[in-house]
Amino acid sequence: EKFKDGLTKTRQSFSDKMNDLVARYRKVDEDFFEELEEVLIQADVGFDTVLELVDELKMEVKRRNIQESSQVKEIIVEKLVDIYESDDEQITSLNIQDNGLTVILFVGVNGVGKTTTIGKLAYKFKQEGKKVLLAAGDTFRAGAIEQLEVWGKRVGVDVIKQNEGSDPAAVMYDAIQAARSRKADILLCDTAGRLQNKVNLMKELEKVKRVIEREIPGAPHEVLLVLDATTGQNAMIQAKQFKEATDVTGIVLTKLDGTAKGGIVIAIRKELNIPVKFVGLGEKMDDLQPFDLEQYVYGLFA
Ligand code: GDP
Repeated sequence: EKFKDGLTKTRQSFSDKMNDLVARYRKVDEDFFEELEEVLIQADVGFDTVLELVDELKMEVKRRNIQESSQVKEIIVEKLVDIYESDDEQITSLNIQDNGLTVILFVGVNGVGKTTTIGKLAYKFKQEGKKVLLAAGDTFRAGAIEQLEVWGKRVGVDVIKQNEGSDPAAVMYDAIQAARSRKADILLCDTAGRLQNKVNLMKELEKVKRVIEREIPGAPHEVLLVLDATTGQNAMIQAKQFKEATDVTGIVLTKLDGTAKGGIVIAIRKELNIPVKFVGLGEKMDDLQPFDLEQYVYGLFA
């Protein structure tokens, strides 16, 4: 239900346009497909994905000898599900260690909802009875440490921090020692998100990762890239940059509730081949949902 509510804007916009299209074109023809392409592109499904999808739709329509435009909707759902299921790495769950500490690193530019996502995940793990610690690795942005502490208090988990301006790698080292001595299950690590100085940011990420890898073989167990769904193609560009800089294992797509362009989920999966693991559907603690493709696609058309 949460999932469905969060997609209201996308669903309404999408189904309004589809219904309008079907009303205007009772019969399927070239113009219908051209307008359909436009609708999908506007929903941020992604240019390449749309072309591929519409090509496949055309073939399917021919093969099944479909005349009525209203029947095309069903095939879209099938094809969207296909796009995902044809991929091997349909790994949407998190790599959580059964024994010992799981370290999750969060990357992404400022403002995308990184701190909020860390808070929400901390809450989720705590609900599951796990002992959680947060590492205040964004030592660059003024207020970032305090903001994480606000979430820490809200959820009831401790934050390991140093002063603003200190070395984030040193914060990580401290946090790992603290997590060990307190026998924590999960360590969620914030990082800086300034993109003005890309080279420095990427170097900093590398250093942070090296410290974690050295302290705990096999860690970080996840590197989650946080992207803001409302930023559309900008989110795609950020994703490409971070993918080049580090081994991103999954994406958290935030603010899906605030956009009518929820098609970005499809574009990300198709064009970047990184699984979307969670979606943010609001600002509250429990507004984070594991991403479920079928729910998502059926949600769009429900
Ligand atoms: P950060 O700079 O990446 O750490 O971003 P923040 O966590 O501070 O989030 C930036 C803003 O986005 C805040 O006002 C959050 O409440 C809001 N936000 C984060 N996630 C979501 C979401 O899933 N939905 C909505 N509607 N707002 C969100």
